[in-house]
This record gives sequence, C-alpha cells and structure tokens, in this order.
Amino acid sequence: MRALTISAHGDLDRLEVRDDLAVPEIRRPTDVRIRVVAAALNHLDLFVVSGLPGVTITPPWVLGSDAFGVVDAIGDSVSTLRVGDYVVVNGGLSDRTCEYCRDGEQPLCPRFGVLGEHFPGTLAELVVLPEANLRTVPATSDPDRAAAFTLVALTAWRMVMSRARVKAGEDVLIWGIGGGVAIAALQICKMIGARVWAVSSSDEKLERAAAMGADVLLNRGRVDVGKTVRERTAKRGMDVVIDNVGKASWTQSLVALGRRGRLVTCGATSGPIVEIDVRRLFWNQWSIMGSTMGNDAEFDAVVAEFRAGRLMPVVDSVFPLDRGRNAFERLADPARFGKIVVRVP
Ligand SMILES: [Zn+2]
Repeated sequence: MRALTISAHGDLDRLEVRDDLAVPEIRRPTDVRIRVVAAALNHLDLFVVSGLPGVTITPPWVLGSDAFGVVDAIGDSVSTLRVGDYVVVNGGLSDRTCEYCRDGEQPLCPRFGVLGEHFPGTLAELVVLPEANLRTVPATSDPDRAAAFTLVALTAWRMVMSRARVKAGEDVLIWGIGGGVAIAALQICKMIGARVWAVSSSDEKLERAAAMGADVLLNRGRVDVGKTVRERTAKRGMDVVIDNVGKASWTQSLVALGRRGRLVTCGATSGPIVEIDVRRLFWNQWSIMGSTMGNDAEFDAVVAEFRAGRLMPVVDSVFPLDRGRNAFERLADPARFGKIVVRVP
C-alpha cells in the first residue's frame, strides 16, 4: 500500500512516499476500511512531522487526519454503511465506554486520540476506522472539498455553537483568517447572523474574508487590534473572541474582549504560554474556554450542513500523493488561504 509517511521527526525532508506498507485489516466487528480518494492536511500535521511532546510514532508513520473515500470492507456488526458508500472521516477516536463518551462528549475521553497523531493517518490508499467515525456523503461530492471539510468544520462548530454559543447580532473577533478553522468559524458565524471582525496581516486575505461576509477587517500589521476594537465599539468590546494563535495574540484578544465576553481557543500556533490579569477576568465576568475537535452530535450537524451545501471549505490547492512534500510546503506557507488537499490515486 502507498502512503505519505515519516520515519523520524525533523524538517519536511523527512516526508517520504512509500509503497511497501501492509494493507490495514478489519480487526473489530465495528471496523470499516475505506479506500481514500482525497485526504486533507491540517496544521497538526506540521507539528507531527517536527515532533510533539508525549506523542510517539511507530515508523513508518502515516500522516493525515481528514479524508474522503469509498467503503472497501466492513466488519460483521457494521449497520450504517455498505461497501461502495462514499464517506467523510471524523479524525478523533475515543474508547466509547468512559463516562465522557457515555455522556456524548467523545473529545473529553481520556483515551481520545487523533488520526495521524496517535493513530495511523489518512494519507494512504487504505485506512481502517470505527464505523462511528464515518458518515456518508453523496458519491457526487467534490472530492477535494469533502476531504477538506470535517476536521476544521467540526472544530469550528464546537467552538462557535457549543462552547461560545454565539448568537445572532453578537460581535465575534476571529484571528488568523486564512487558516481552515478560522474560515469555518467565519462561515458558521455568518450563517447564524453574528457580526464578524476578521484579523489577518494580509489585505488580500481580508478581502477574501469580506467576500465571505466578514463585517469588519483588521490588518494586524497596521493596527493594534485590541485598541482598535475598543475605539470602534465605544469601549464595549467583543462578545466573543476566537483565538487559535496563542502567545502572539492573547494580550490583544483580552483587550478586545467585552464584559461577559467569551474567549474560545483550540490552538496555540505562536506559542502556548500566556498571561492573564485575574482582576480583569472576574470584574468583566469573562469565560475563557478551550475546545478540541467535536462529538458525534456535532459531527452529524456539520455533515448535514455539508450535504445541504450550506457549509463548504475553501480549498487553497490540490497535490497528488507523489508531491506530498510540496503539499506540506504549501501548508507551511503564510500566503495559504484555506485547505491543502492530497489526491490519492
Ligand atoms: Zn471515552
């Protein structure tokens, strides 16, 4: 079987297309094997290549957390899928037995793990997954958009709808427009009638955000985001801030956050350690929230939006598996707007 792999951590020159991997077998009655048509990259893949603390890979390690494919084989107890069905993948795996899983909150599972990070990934011809991590989509779905959809839409949905509970008419500041989760968060906020303040260092990206409905554009290279938000809202500030940047944006996020504001984060691409003045936290009655991936109900919700054509990812570029390294180089390129897809022939 062919796959895009690494055998040691390091730079992108560690990426290697191999064709000698064993075909993954159905082991449990709930297992489903899919033949991957297209897989998409996430920022997480860059972290896996360079190495993450506490995460150990077994070489050759297959990368990738998102995919669109066709069911190739099913275990004995699989009831929701048939061979030949087209599916999208939820890359978050849980034990489905602990108290959080029983409560329908799979991303809180102590044994939660992500494809391509804790389990073999999707940048391969074949991948075996639990039935619960797959949903059917029409065979006529655009393969690139279907592959690029799930992880970012699911993550953004949980942040916007379940955690921050954004309402119509609220002001939402979104950092890093151009990244997949930020774009999905923008789309979801506009679907529910919130006002979006988009932040980027690129005017080109801000123009694209405006075309997708962003109401206010802030170029962080030219303006102090926190100060500008306070000026332009007569000191009221934002109802919600979506900050996946971490260290570099945190201080300005808190300056921008209004009374009873909610800050929600699912990442820290610029660094993980931040400071907070506890007096401002309690006086303003803020909620600082974390969010990771999504649960089964949220997976159902985003797939329904995809099937209805209401929520679609932006695809930046598409590469064949043989050019997987070029795909990763584009993933690391600050000019990227949207998702990088890898076609698996
Ligand atoms: Zn669990």
